[in-house]
Amino acid sequence: MRRSIMAGNWKMYKTAAETTAFFEKFLPLVEKATHCEIVVAPPFVNLAAAVAATRSSRVEIAAQNLHWVTKDGAYTGEVSGPMLKAIGCGWVIIGHSERRQYFGETDETVLKRTIAALESGLAPIVCVGERLEEREAGRTEAVLEEQFNGGLAGLAPEQFARVTIAYEPVWAIGTGRTATPEIAADAHKFLRSRIKARYGEEQAAATRILYGGSVKPDNIKGLMAQPDIDGGLVGGASLDPASFASIVNF
Ligand code: PEP
Repeated sequence: MRRSIMAGNWKMYKTAAETTAFFEKFLPLVEKATHCEIVVAPPFVNLAAAVAATRSSRVEIAAQNLHWVTKDGAYTGEVSGPMLKAIGCGWVIIGHSERRQYFGETDETVLKRTIAALESGLAPIVCVGERLEEREAGRTEAVLEEQFNGGLAGLAPEQFARVTIAYEPVWAIGTGRTATPEIAADAHKFLRSRIKARYGEEQAAATRILYGGSVKPDNIKGLMAQPDIDGGLVGGASLDPASFASIVNF
């Protein structure tokens, strides 16, 4: 049985004070939610506040990115895995489509960052997903296969075992246009078939694949009813404590 994960991606939203205020409201609302793991990814500057606010709770904190170099060095503006681990992060999001689209992220850098995360003791959530024109051209599976082969298949089996995948169709992110549960499930099944081909049946059954793309309190139930969907990576709807809590408590 795969344990589900509800992860919130705050993107470039909230100050440290707003982070603390969020958790004051959010934690009591998810106190009884033992059915899933809960992860929140604030911007780097709010990680310390988020870790402090969630110390005596089951909520874990993720970063939204990390550099692939795991030692200190002359990399202005970058943050390393060991720094994230030291501040109290347990997770890191890698290869989000916004990073692929605006910041030159490629499958090659996704693989390098994933290896750095694993070497730093962080659990990576690696994002894949097709753009609208790729879906419309019937290339969804080809794109997912390319991203899987380039960004993940280079991991050793024991490394891949610690990876969570997030399927996030780019056309559904921040657009209010959620994939139907069936569309999402088809992509998850396809990804699982790729995992099986590369890492074997047991690993394919064990890997958690989250869905992301306009997940809201009113559509989470339908998505989670699909056996291949193991949780959500939630952007906009994770910014409000009541909204994210109702997704967690679906
Ligand atoms: C995301 O940030 O990964 C995301 C899926 O955003 P949203 O839920 O707002 O579509």
